[in-house]
Amino acid sequence: MNGQGRVSPGSAAPADERGCSWLNIWVFLIFALAVKAAFVALCLWLVVPFCHSSDQPSALQQQFSQWECDSAVPQGTDGGWTCCPKGWRRFQGSCYFLSSDTMNCAESAQNCGGMGSQLVVISSKAEQDFLSKLKNQLQKNQQLKRDNFYIGLFEKKEGQWQWVDKTPYNETATFWRAGEPNDGHDENCTVRHMPEETLNNWNDVKPDVPHYRICEAAAVIV
Ligand code: CA
Repeated sequence: MNGQGRVSPGSAAPADERGCSWLNIWVFLIFALAVKAAFVALCLWLVVPFCHSSDQPSALQQQFSQWECDSAVPQGTDGGWTCCPKGWRRFQGSCYFLSSDTMNCAESAQNCGGMGSQLVVISSKAEQDFLSKLKNQLQKNQQLKRDNFYIGLFEKKEGQWQWVDKTPYNETATFWRAGEPNDGHDENCTVRHMPEETLNNWNDVKPDVPHYRICEAAAVIV
């Protein structure tokens, strides 16, 4: 009389053994996925400053060690993750920093440059709209008082406006406040004026007055 559970040579493995094999495979797959996820997280957190598609890391990458990434892929790129320094906000292919301290116009430009960025260049209604909504969000969270923010638009000569990155000044894509630019008292720097609800909130101002600032840099694709 054969004992229960004995298996004759050449027969199929019992159901519980087959289950055990499948269980092992699943455990292995889950473990492999966990290892891969951990590796990606480690790369995004630690290695972003050194990940780069060009020969040299960008100035932004050299300045920050903590990054926040998401998998939204900007149009026309083949990267899988779009990253901004921690605390910066991303929109399309750029990262934005809204300061919580004030500086004059030249200091503001210098401060952005020191972070591997520049004063923001606003080149579309969508970008202007994003910055307005962003400020509203921060104000609701009481992270931001209502005030003026320097942007990267300067009057090089009388009536000749120029963006900090030499983007052509397009009169049809500007958002001057009503009556501005009035060029009063050598006003050759530009701020986004709050608390207008309208998108038309730019104002030319004197360069020696301290204001907040918005810095912009290209997002890092890894
Ligand atoms: Ca003005």
